Amino acid sequence: MCGWIMLWTAAVCLCLCVCSLAGPIPVHRGVSEHSKLLLVSFDGFRWDYDRDVDTPHLDAMAKDGVKATYVTPAFLTVTSPTHFTILTGKYIENHGVIHNMWFNSSTWEKKSYYKSQFVNEWWDNGSLPIWITAQRQGLKAGSLHFPGTASTYQGESAVVREVEPENYNYSNETAWQENIDKVMKSWFREQDLDFVSMYFGEPDSTGHKYGPDSPQRRTMVQQVDRTVGYLRSAAEKNGLSERLNIIITADHGMSTVYRNGLVDEIILSKIPGFSFRDLDFHIVDFGPAGLLLPKEGRLDKVFNALKGAHPHLHVYKKEEIPAHLHYSHNDRILPIILWADPGYVINGYFPVQFHKGEHGYDNQALDMKPFFRATGPDFQKNLEVGPFETVNIYPLMCHLLKITPEPNDGHLNATRHMLTSSIQTENEGSSGDDILSSVFIGLGSVAGFLVIVFVVLLSRGIHKRRRNKSRSTDEGEIDKCHTETKQTTF
Ligand SMILES: [Zn+2]
Repeated sequence: MCGWIMLWTAAVCLCLCVCSLAGPIPVHRGVSEHSKLLLVSFDGFRWDYDRDVDTPHLDAMAKDGVKATYVTPAFLTVTSPTHFTILTGKYIENHGVIHNMWFNSSTWEKKSYYKSQFVNEWWDNGSLPIWITAQRQGLKAGSLHFPGTASTYQGESAVVREVEPENYNYSNETAWQENIDKVMKSWFREQDLDFVSMYFGEPDSTGHKYGPDSPQRRTMVQQVDRTVGYLRSAAEKNGLSERLNIIITADHGMSTVYRNGLVDEIILSKIPGFSFRDLDFHIVDFGPAGLLLPKEGRLDKVFNALKGAHPHLHVYKKEEIPAHLHYSHNDRILPIILWADPGYVINGYFPVQFHKGEHGYDNQALDMKPFFRATGPDFQKNLEVGPFETVNIYPLMCHLLKITPEPNDGHLNATRHMLTSSIQTENEGSSGDDILSSVFIGLGSVAGFLVIVFVVLLSRGIHKRRRNKSRSTDEGEIDKCHTETKQTTF
């Protein structure tokens, strides 16, 4: 009797310990089991650009894989910040690349989008893009023209990389095909890279220049569509189809700008009570959003002058910005943030830029939502899914590559349903939720253990009392039980 209780208790304790250890604690399962992954961004490809153009190759990709209705980018909806969100899974306030431009508010120095790519400390400020995380876990990563490629992170960069040349011709279809051939043949097949990110600067440029509703934009979407077809046949030609997952998405959408007297334009210098002399530094005249640094003691004056001054201008103090924008908790973000409603831009002294299309608006605006397609051995086929935030692309990519993600703002649960059942439930790495559930399982095990100890001690006590009663009648049996008790310790 006494012996089997001890044995049973030991077995239950062992089971509980094993269960708590085998839960969601990250396990790196070796690099040989995962498929390769290609991440492609077509800058500014709005979610609905396939609605007024024939896109046979994008349609075929949706049939062979997964299509999301749209995805929601991070705010500020501009190129470098939103691409770095895709690479890190973090909202912009958490990864620190808060604007397309690098700036120094003390010296008034500003660097353009292109020059900012080479300011290392702007990008390398604590967050690791997926290239570095993959390489540190034994994988080989590459990047072609993707924003952030030029920088190093804690001294490391993608092992194979090609930085976009200055004044690059974004729309050259032949160059697009050559780059695809290079990635498929040289990088994936010959150099056996596991992960590559690839960037195309269209249809963003055409959308800015001619507007998202223009025939030029529709023509460019056809070029993107042909390129998607070229890319998939290049994968096939290089024998990669069965082991290459492909994710195609974008950084933001595009919205038509109203001009030529159609609307009451937002011109800050014309707003009563507002003066640029009250500012130490500002970033305006770069589309629909602006950042202001008022002089000491003048924050409320500037804020009160601008707040409510134009029906399509949103004015917020940094700490009061709506939570869904996640654009507050970073020292680089200036104390006052402005953004306009779709259709408007923010001008300083007078209108200086004349794009017909713009982005940078609130990420809830439908025009700001990019498209999303995914295909490959780990994705379901012919599946359309609802919208999700682009912070979730990073944990998805880490799961596909079977690497443990860095702390991030996304979660695999947002995309898990896109995956085939064989990979859907595998370990996803150490997100905060997993650590929490591990802690709960661990605590549960300890509690279970204590209950069992209590039950065993109780039964021992009962047994002892019975033994004392029957000591005179069965000495031999008691000795046997006593010996067994000694052999099992807790
Ligand atoms: Zn962009």
